[in-house]
Amino acid sequence: MAEIRSHERPTCEVCQKTGATVVAKYTRSPWPVVACNHCGFVYLGRVPDYEDLSVNLAWEKQHADEKERRKKENKLARFDALTRFRLKFGKVIDRARHRRAAVSGRVLEIGCGGSTRIPAGPIPYGIEISEGLAAKARPIFEARGGTVYHEPATTGIERFPESFFDSIIMRSYLEHEAQPRVILERAFKRLKPGGKILLRSPNYNSANRHIMGAEWCGFRFPDHVNYFTPRSLKALAESIGYEFHWMNWMSLFDDNLIVQLKRPASAVPEIEPPGTRAAA
Ligand SMILES: [Zn+2]
Repeated sequence: MAEIRSHERPTCEVCQKTGATVVAKYTRSPWPVVACNHCGFVYLGRVPDYEDLSVNLAWEKQHADEKERRKKENKLARFDALTRFRLKFGKVIDRARHRRAAVSGRVLEIGCGGSTRIPAGPIPYGIEISEGLAAKARPIFEARGGTVYHEPATTGIERFPESFFDSIIMRSYLEHEAQPRVILERAFKRLKPGGKILLRSPNYNSANRHIMGAEWCGFRFPDHVNYFTPRSLKALAESIGYEFHWMNWMSLFDDNLIVQLKRPASAVPEIEPPGTRAAA
């Protein structure tokens, strides 16, 4: 693999303050896992540049490398089999949820990969940072009237007008995004009032992370750059204006958070046109 270009993240994405401490037990050089000194949010303090995510570190390649590494290193094979079962089960639940939430209008899937999980009905749009996967997905989206952009999500989303989408799917995406605040702010503007984001991301506070430690399946370096908990994701979302609903709070052993973020229906206040009061 070519040398990976990277940069430091100067501030915490949740509380926007500087100052973080390395979490030594989870850090594999040169990708420091750090915890914010102010709010405790855990993230990678150094991340790969977007250009490298496009080809060198594309998800499909990264996933294959990580699988190989785990095969060699994992001494708890039985736990791993259980984890795989849970992940499969999680996919079934995800599909059911997506069917319910996105039935008409326009739906954006950020990090769509090589296909779409958007059920028949709405016009599907996608943004995918892997060049190969975006090319594979594009004809599928175009056949249904939408399209796929190959570009970082933070700039790709700016191609769309404000209040354009009924819902946005971020499944296994936000943990990869070095600027989660930027993407959630831009997504907020492009959702219709009352529109929703359906989001799935590893839960750093899951029971499995406490049990498995550094071998927890949520750790992928340098692929996963944010380690959200229900608390930190709620704080980030609410600071932007979303209503936060944690959908799988009862699933104690789920490795992932499944969350709905809603742009309030009243997000755009009705402004009284000048002169109406005098005319009445
Ligand atoms: Zn913080």
